[in-house]
Parts: sequence; structure tokens; C-alpha cells
Amino acid sequence: MVRLIPVERGGKIVWAEDAPDTCPDGHKRLVPTTAGCPECGEPIRQWPCREPGCTAPVQYDDEHVHHSRK
Ligand SMILES: [Zn+2]
Ligand SMILES: [Zn+2]
Repeated sequence: MVRLIPVERGGKIVWAEDAPDTCPDGHKRLVPTTAGCPECGEPIRQWPCREPGCTAPVQYDDEHVHHSRK
């Protein structure tokens, strides 16, 4: 699961996803989505980068454990 972290918004503390701010190449155009894991196909939280031409690997939930394909 993606961790939730307390974030202040408009004077209130709310719980937000501990999502990355930038892709591995430093772009700030990440779009949160839920899609199949590239390794095992299980639906997981991912943050693909929408910067044109970006070739960095898609970041995904770092607590995800791949299902074995038995
Ligand atoms: Zn990028
Ligand atoms: Zn997986």
C-alpha cells in the first residue's frame, strides 16, 4: 500500500499519498494512476511522467510486492 502522510491544506491537516514529486529525470509532470504492474500485472498505484520524450522508468508503489506468476 502507498503510505499516507499528514499534509496541511488550508489550515487543516489531511492525509495524502506519499507520492513522488518528480520523475527520476526531475520532471514535475507526474500523473497518478492505477494500472497493472509492469512486472506482475497486479493493479498498483503508479506515477508515469507526462513530459514529452521522457524515458525514465515509471515510478510505482515502492511497497508493492510482485505476485509470482505460478
Ligand atoms: Zn520525466
Ligand atoms: Zn508487481
